[in-house]
Parts: sequence; C-alpha cells; structure tokens
Amino acid sequence: METSHTASLIAVESLSASTRLFRFETGGEHLPFIAGQFYRFTFTDATGPFERSYSFSQFDPKLPMSQFELVISAVAGGRATDLLFNAALGLTVQLKGPFGRLILPADDKRCLVLVATSVGVAPFLPMLQSLEAGEHQRFDSVHLLFGVRDPTEVLFQEALLRLRSDASWFKLTVHCSRSQDASMDWQHPGYVTSGLAQLALDPKSDHVLVCGNPKMVDDVYALLRAQHFGPRSVIREKYVFAVQEKAVQGPARSSADEALLQQKMKAYGATPATDPKPLKPV
Ligand SMILES: Cc1cc2nc3c(=O)[nH]c(=O)nc-3n(C[C@H](O)[C@H](O)[C@H](O)COP(=O)(O)OP(=O)(O)OC[C@H]3O[C@@H](n4cnc5c(N)ncnc54)[C@H](O)[C@@H]3O)c2cc1C
Repeated sequence: METSHTASLIAVESLSASTRLFRFETGGEHLPFIAGQFYRFTFTDATGPFERSYSFSQFDPKLPMSQFELVISAVAGGRATDLLFNAALGLTVQLKGPFGRLILPADDKRCLVLVATSVGVAPFLPMLQSLEAGEHQRFDSVHLLFGVRDPTEVLFQEALLRLRSDASWFKLTVHCSRSQDASMDWQHPGYVTSGLAQLALDPKSDHVLVCGNPKMVDDVYALLRAQHFGPRSVIREKYVFAVQEKAVQGPARSSADEALLQQKMKAYGATPATDPKPLKPV
C-alpha cells in the first residue's frame, strides 16, 4: 500500500511568462526520491479530487529536507493549472511516490546526455545538483540539450550558465525552434534532434535521458535507434496529459536499475514505489 503524504504550498516564484516554481513544505517529513523521479499529486477543486504527476525539481542544495519544489508550465484551460496558478499560500495537497525510471544510470558512462524540451528540464535540475555534488565523476562528460521556442524560455538560465562556466564536465546547448537568434555560442537555431545528431554518441559507452513533450521524445528515440541505442541506454519520460498517462507504461526496470533503486531507497530508509498504476480519465 503506497503511503499518501501531505504538503502545504509555502512559496510561488515566476520563472517565465508561463512557468512558475511552487515550493511545498511537508511539516517535517523528508519525502524520499532519487533525482529525476516524480510524485503523483491529488488536488481538490470545486468539482472534486483529481490527480496529476509532477517531477521533483529542486535545484538549490540548501533547500530544507522537509521542502520540495515543482516547476510547472501553465496549460490553457488546464484543471491543475487553474488550481495552482490561482492558489493562495497554504494550499494543501496529497502526494504519493516516488515513481519513475528517469534516473542516473547504475553503471559509469563516457557521456551522459540529458535531452529536454521546455518544462521537461524539471527532473534534470536535482540530477544536475547531485552531479555537481560529486556524481559527475562517474562520467567523462554530461551534455544537456535544452529545446525551447525562443531564448526567453530558457528556465534557470543563470544557474545553468553558472554551472557551465564552473564545471568542465558540463556542456550546455540550447536549441531554439522558433528563433534564429544564436548570438551566444551555446544557442542554436532548430530542434534538439539536430543538436543530438551532431554528437558522435556510442551506445556501448553513452547513456541518454530524455524528458518533455511526447513527439520530441519519440523523435529523439527514433534518431538514437538508428544509431543502435536501445531502451536500456535511452530512458524516456513523456510529459503526457493526464488522460494519456494510462497508455504510457514504461518498460520494466532492468535488474541494474532495480538494484540501484533498492540501494538508494535503502539509504533513505524507504521502499521504492512501483511504477504508477493507470489513471482513470478525469
Ligand atoms: C511523469 C510526468 C511528470 C510530469 N511532470 C511535470 C512537471 O514537472 N511540470 C509540468 O509542468 N508538467 C508535468 N507533467 C504534466 C502534468 O502532469 C500535467 O499534465 C500538466 O500540468 C497539465 O495539467 P492540467 O490539469 O493543467 O491540464 P489538463 O486539465 O490535464 O489539460 C487541459 C487541456 O489541455 C490539454 N493539455 C494538457 N497539457 C498540455 C500541454 N502540455 N500542451 C498542450 N495541451 C495540453 C489537454 O489535452 C486538455 O485538453 C508531468 C506529466 C507526467 C506524466
């Protein structure tokens, strides 16, 4: 039986025209998660309770253990959007988890490639924090390919550029699909797939994590399949809408993934949750 936790909204920060950071406090409880995982939230509005999934997105190592952050993009007419973007501080939510296989690989790799579009960068934020804290030593390099429509949509730009200049192991390229502005050497016009195609990746030594809109995730996977990557070396998380979550059941965890999950969750003194059960359409 999965345990349900409770948390209260304590701060909201605007990150871009359509994206906000929501900080929650559990009241002392440390919610276990491995960087990259998500929780399933139950919200209640005038129509009743409903569920949505959100990645834990904390990037600040000084955040108290009893707090967590979500980075959420507004969806026009969205039920969770309406609730969260109009919520007063103190809003109470229920959550279960953690879920998800989008985590650092168990084995050391030559190149770790993170591919995100828009708010799909959310699960990579705590991952970059743990890489910076020392996990990067397991990889020769870590490359974040970040797809946005135009340069104003680069979430956490300052922090990402700070990491890029501090860490020789970290490469950042931003791919702007609707802008030709490539005034900085890390900006490129086009899609993340064109940036990915230029990397000389090797399925034997490299590992790719992909998160964001389903079409981008499929396009990236098709490109990597043509380079002989498979489901063990490309881990995908699609930010599907709630009604589509039912149809997206990831492949079973590999024994290496399972061992890593068990080992990390043991360190947290918690039991890993199973992958989420299908949701009823809401
Ligand atoms: C594993 C997982 C993790 C996720 N993590 C995050 C996260 O960290 N941050 C985040 O912002 N989102 C995340 N999502 C998406 C999130 O769960 C919601 O689907 C999203 O916030 C929209 O919810 P809503 O209730 O506002 O919209 P809904 O009420 O679900 O949708 C309203 C309408 O908009 C359409 N719609 C919904 N989403 C989109 C979209 N993105 N683009 C265009 N049309 C859309 C729907 O089809 C519907 O017609 C995640 C999804 C999954 C499956």
